Amino acid sequence: MLTGKHIVIIGGDARQLEIIRKLSTLDAKISMVGFEQLDDGFVGATKEQLDNIDFSTVDVILLPVSGTNQKGEVETIFSNETVTITTELLQKTKKNCQIYTGISNDYLTSCAKEADRKLVKLLERDDIAIYNSIPTVEGTVMMAIQHTDITIHSSNIVVLGFGRVGMSVARTFDALGANVKVGARETKHIARITEMGFTPFDTSNIVNEVSDVDIVINTIPAPVISADVIANMPANALIIDLASKPGGTDFRYAEKRGIKALLAPGLPGIVAPKTAGQILAKVLAQLLKDG
Ligand code: NAP
Repeated sequence: MLTGKHIVIIGGDARQLEIIRKLSTLDAKISMVGFEQLDDGFVGATKEQLDNIDFSTVDVILLPVSGTNQKGEVETIFSNETVTITTELLQKTKKNCQIYTGISNDYLTSCAKEADRKLVKLLERDDIAIYNSIPTVEGTVMMAIQHTDITIHSSNIVVLGFGRVGMSVARTFDALGANVKVGARETKHIARITEMGFTPFDTSNIVNEVSDVDIVINTIPAPVISADVIANMPANALIIDLASKPGGTDFRYAEKRGIKALLAPGLPGIVAPKTAGQILAKVLAQLLKDG
């Protein structure tokens, strides 16, 4: 149980509601900031203005998956207010207060560092990244269906990257009957790709692997789908770029060549916010219980 813990949940989307639901059943004291337009009430959770919170009692601050922008502003879907995180605000919390976020940026990382508070980036954890790959892949299948006029079955798919998302993408498209090639750079990944029945290639050789591709799905957060790669693709190929912004595609050149290239960030929150929230809630509750 989290009895006696004061948790401030600041901003976010429907995913945060699952977290609030879970943490309130564990008897935490929850203050919700940036939720005034939300009709639902939660037992043990109260809507508050940032200025009214006594931060000297706060054990945990939970930010949305997106963290803050470079000005410290938090995304608040359920509010018109601008909520800003500052070093001064974090310094008001208990000395051992922990800040949880999905991802971070230079601004948030330096605020936490200057305030000497621990910042936990949930999406960097293997368990969350692997669970999150499930709704990410479902969203990718949805986009592939929406943006092509062919079946996934028998189509030629190139997956770039064989990490937590890439492996799930390759396995799912293979299970749907596609011909799946996977680009990786480590020999152990080439071996695993082979073992799983896909066709491996070295990512550095990508330019020679796309001449008959129907869909390229990128999970590498680096500029791998460059102009020379795009120039070698069929005109009707589709690029779905899952890598974090700005993606790994030369979007300018893709547009010039008339190839449809889609940057698709945040699919779990779009296609399955409830499940995505439950994934975060489950891991977060365990982390908080472990202290
Ligand atoms: P990951 O486990 O770290 O996998 C990344 C893959 O990219 C690995 O195979 C890695 O190879 C490869 N890679 C990284 N830098 C490379 C480079 N410069 N050249 C060649 N290969 C490189 O990450 P993940 O959890 O799968 O996530 C992948 C991306 O998707 C991230 O940007 C993440 O933020 C994003 N994401 C997006 C969504 C969405 O909804 N669109 C959802 C979840 C995650 P090595 O193993 O050899 O380093």
